[in-house]
Amino acid sequence: MRIVVLAGGIGGARFLRGLKAATPDADITVIGNTGDDIHLFGLKVCPDLDTVMYTLGGGINEDQGWGRSDETFQVKSELAAYGVGPEWFGLGDRDFATHIVRTQMLGAGYPLSAVTDALCDRWQPGVRLIPMSDDRVETHVAVELEGERRAVHFQEYWVRLRASVDALAVVPVGAEQAKPAPGVLEAIAAADVVLFPPSNPVVSVGTILSVPGIREAIADAGVPVVGLSPIVGDAPVRGMADKMLAAVGVESSAAAVAEHYGSGLLDGWLVDTADGATVERVEAAGIRCRAVPLMMTDLDATAEMARAALALAEEVRT
Ligand code: GDP
Ligand code: CA
Repeated sequence: MRIVVLAGGIGGARFLRGLKAATPDADITVIGNTGDDIHLFGLKVCPDLDTVMYTLGGGINEDQGWGRSDETFQVKSELAAYGVGPEWFGLGDRDFATHIVRTQMLGAGYPLSAVTDALCDRWQPGVRLIPMSDDRVETHVAVELEGERRAVHFQEYWVRLRASVDALAVVPVGAEQAKPAPGVLEAIAAADVVLFPPSNPVVSVGTILSVPGIREAIADAGVPVVGLSPIVGDAPVRGMADKMLAAVGVESSAAAVAEHYGSGLLDGWLVDTADGATVERVEAAGIRCRAVPLMMTDLDATAEMARAALALAEEVRT
């Protein structure tokens, strides 16, 4: 079975671990969000691609959900001693090596997709990981700071400001001109099923869908498209996704996220058992819906979620 998954960082990566356990023989292609990418200290950092790579490759900091395990921060403190920041973005020593290799290869002319392949040679994530685009796309968030409207990089909003002010707008800068990376449209066209993991609907899955051609390819693929809600009991399980949803005028509920994707894109949607009462509302929007436990507490629970998503895909296929 060929499965295509559109993934952000933590939510996407953890789900993928369960999907791999549930379908050991499947051929899984992950289309990764690169809207979070940022240049720091002259290095190109791709947080979501790295979270997927480290999580599936066994190098992730399990407690944090991002960054490397057994990490130290010598380089960061040496940089700070020179007065060189930003200090709000935690890059560890082990992690730095990844960004150095990536930046060196990009400088030598390799596209990000080829660089990602090379990094995955080491990590062997057991999936094919492709950035959504080789072109630069950068998510910016419009905020009001000290009475002035400003656009800040998504990482500045999320990490430095911790989403403490309202997001007035979210813009994937560069997306309109971006092309899907080599292999993205091919993987979608060859897929038996497309899954949206419980990733952020706006700044993870939404950003991937903003690259011209990707949304259309998924809608036209003629295969089941099934998503899992990152919102449980009207709140994000982790993080501040509600802030991002508010910026695009979507209420923070499992049903509203399904309606936001819409029946033109989604065939099936899984909500948590806590949101069982909204199944009817989702189905009224033309999307087949089931309520199952959606907390990724451990590998078994996550694998069970993946099985439920694939079962729903089979149900809508007929
Ligand atoms: P990020 O790029 O690291 O923010 O990660 P993603 O976009 O892939 O996923 C973030 C989303 O994952 C958040 O909106 C969370 O609500 C969601 N999430 C995290 N853990 C769980 C979980 O155990 N169950 C569900 N349903 N969603 C989760
Ligand atoms: Ca992210």
